[in-house]
Amino acid sequence: MRILVIGAGVAGMTAAYSLQQAGHQVTVLDREAKPGQGASFANGAQLSYSYVAPLAAPGVVGKAMGWALDPDGPLQLKPSLGLAQWRWLAEFMRCCTAERFAATTVELLALGQYSRRLMHSLMQRETLDFCWRMNGKLVVFRDQSELDGAAAVARLQAEHGSEQQVLDAGECLRLEPALEALRDVLAGGVFTPSEEVGDAQRFCAGLRSLLAERGARLLFGRRVTGLLLRGGAAVGAETAEGPVEADAVVLAGGAAAVHLLAPLGVRVPVYPLRGYSLTLPVGPQHRPPRLSITDSHHKIVYAPLNEPYGARLRVAGMVDLAGESTEQPRARLETLARQAEASFPAAADWGRAESWAGLRPATSDGKPIVGPSGIPGLWLNLGHGALGFTLAAATAQMLTDMLGGEAPALAPEPFALGRSVAVAA
Ligand SMILES: Cc1cc2nc3c(=O)[nH]c(=O)nc-3n(C[C@H](O)[C@H](O)[C@H](O)COP(=O)(O)OP(=O)(O)OC[C@H]3O[C@@H](n4cnc5c(N)ncnc54)[C@H](O)[C@@H]3O)c2cc1C
Repeated sequence: MRILVIGAGVAGMTAAYSLQQAGHQVTVLDREAKPGQGASFANGAQLSYSYVAPLAAPGVVGKAMGWALDPDGPLQLKPSLGLAQWRWLAEFMRCCTAERFAATTVELLALGQYSRRLMHSLMQRETLDFCWRMNGKLVVFRDQSELDGAAAVARLQAEHGSEQQVLDAGECLRLEPALEALRDVLAGGVFTPSEEVGDAQRFCAGLRSLLAERGARLLFGRRVTGLLLRGGAAVGAETAEGPVEADAVVLAGGAAAVHLLAPLGVRVPVYPLRGYSLTLPVGPQHRPPRLSITDSHHKIVYAPLNEPYGARLRVAGMVDLAGESTEQPRARLETLARQAEASFPAAADWGRAESWAGLRPATSDGKPIVGPSGIPGLWLNLGHGALGFTLAAATAQMLTDMLGGEAPALAPEPFALGRSVAVAA
């Protein structure tokens, strides 16, 4: 089949690769000049297969109100006059029950574990240089009650095949000496040895080379202005340079996909959650963390990215509900840099940080949307939120299976567009 993939982020590129592997003739279209220039550009670099619990958790609404009032808090809300933000928030709040949280965590865990298996077989098949390492992840807590909550989630996840260890403060410091500056405030942490890191943008660039070598058509610098329908079915996309036709279309346009779907009457519960990252050079004099670290107190993740020509530390965090702008407010970046440097003062060259802002394409319930759109010929692979790099391999394979008329290895219903985001009473 001739398949057009709209969007060359990590979701679109992984889907394009998977579809090509299945024998389809693939075209990729993106408005940017290169792949991985949207949310996939400088994300937190975590392949975080076991840390998939959704943002919509019991108690999060109360916490979020506190954070929103604190200018240094991990979350900020810039109220909008449009309906999209308020509708998303209302749906999000309905997803914050204990039952819903547990069910979504289990579904995402299965998707994460499947994604890890697929990613490992992809890496065995192909030579891809994207700073990948299985270095393990340590989530640290400064508050005993938060550590206890995380230990309960680890117990839930253990029942579903996740191997995690709950550690006290001393054990955390022995495992990761770079936590020294937090010695007096640490309550403990949860360690997952099997977690990985990688550079999502480089991963996309590597897939681009493979796709091109194997005959895919890659159309960059072309904005899709609308989907092309014939007889009610999607048969391609309109661009300023003319139409691009296909037998089926996969929409992987990240947070911007809503604009291509709205004129067709298709609504997806996706809203952009803006986050920021800093990428810092690491020299021989620095002592970066060896592990991936999540500092639960500030909601900041740290990923060491080693590469032949110099090591880097990626620091990412914050969730701002502020519409579709990718601006980088100075105050937010200063807060991120200050909190990170105070936690890991010797980790990297804090004076030479490269900053970035990206839009997580977040669904209200925290699960990606994979499968048919309701319009014949139009398939969706979007809404990966804070986990796009982690889950891309799984959603790409599920999409490829469904598009080819085969049953995916995981039940697709929890990730279908039509799933309810409202909680049963
Ligand atoms: C600060 C931050 C930290 C994160 N950390 C992690 C992490 O550690 N691990 C993890 O797994 N995930 C992380 N994420 C989430 C992850 O980066 C996203 O889920 C993922 O990048 C989404 O990929 P995507 O392909 O759906 O979207 P994108 O990467 O945004 O790609 C969408 C593409 O569609 C194109 N497009 C849109 N509209 C059009 C149009 N009309 N015409 C042509 N092209 C169009 C865009 O140009 C873009 O290239 C993080 C995100 C942020 C912001």
